[in-house]
Amino acid sequence: MVLFYLFVEKKAIYYNNHMFVSVVIPALNEEKYIQSCLEAIHQQTFFPSEIIVVDNGSTDKTNKIVKNFNPKIRLIIERRRGAAHARDAGFNAAKGDIICRTDADARPTKDWIKKIVMFFKKTPGAVAVSGPLVFYEKLLSFFGSSPSYLLAALSRLALGHEILYGPNMAIKKSAWKKIRPCSDNINLHEDYDLAQHINRVGQIYFDKNNVVFVSGRRVYKTPGRFFIDYPRMFLNHLSHNRGFVSKLV
Ligand SMILES: [Zn+2]
Repeated sequence: MVLFYLFVEKKAIYYNNHMFVSVVIPALNEEKYIQSCLEAIHQQTFFPSEIIVVDNGSTDKTNKIVKNFNPKIRLIIERRRGAAHARDAGFNAAKGDIICRTDADARPTKDWIKKIVMFFKKTPGAVAVSGPLVFYEKLLSFFGSSPSYLLAALSRLALGHEILYGPNMAIKKSAWKKIRPCSDNINLHEDYDLAQHINRVGQIYFDKNNVVFVSGRRVYKTPGRFFIDYPRMFLNHLSHNRGFVSKLV
């Protein structure tokens, strides 16, 4: 175990080379999933300078699993319920020039952070980047990244800019400082809302080559909520996006 930490430490110093990269993972009762997510982060070919888990009031073993996994992970408690509050707390605490964000039930591929860093390096104007999602459950994995492509295309059409997917996104800290806090309407999808705010300060990109695997548990467990609430919330976004609506009228 000690050797493992030494290895991680060495890798972090070697790779980071003036580029401070933070990873933020909001979590609420994720004892079944968080371990796999942390393993995926620890297997990254570009190791982050810090990993922050924001616990949003878990009553299960989430916190214990995080502490046992690696005591160097920063565990922050955000008591105001809601993914937007948890994300805000994590982004505020992050020291990175680049803040990568994923979800506790997601599994980023091993080059996820490397591709994000490379993307920002070759695209100086970018303030945020997102990418496709692929369900890792067998039945839903059949669709590949098509659902996330489709939604991204629809959003681009409806909102006039790229969106950000919570499980697969990164923003520059400098952009975050201009827009924070970003929880003005917690009835929206917090990742879409973040995209709408960040679009006002710079360009968002969609890197189709950087995939993150996600859980389809919401589709399985509460299909009604997923297929009814999702489009309904999407419509809320149109009215929230004042700039876009004012262009129409
Ligand atoms: Zn907003």
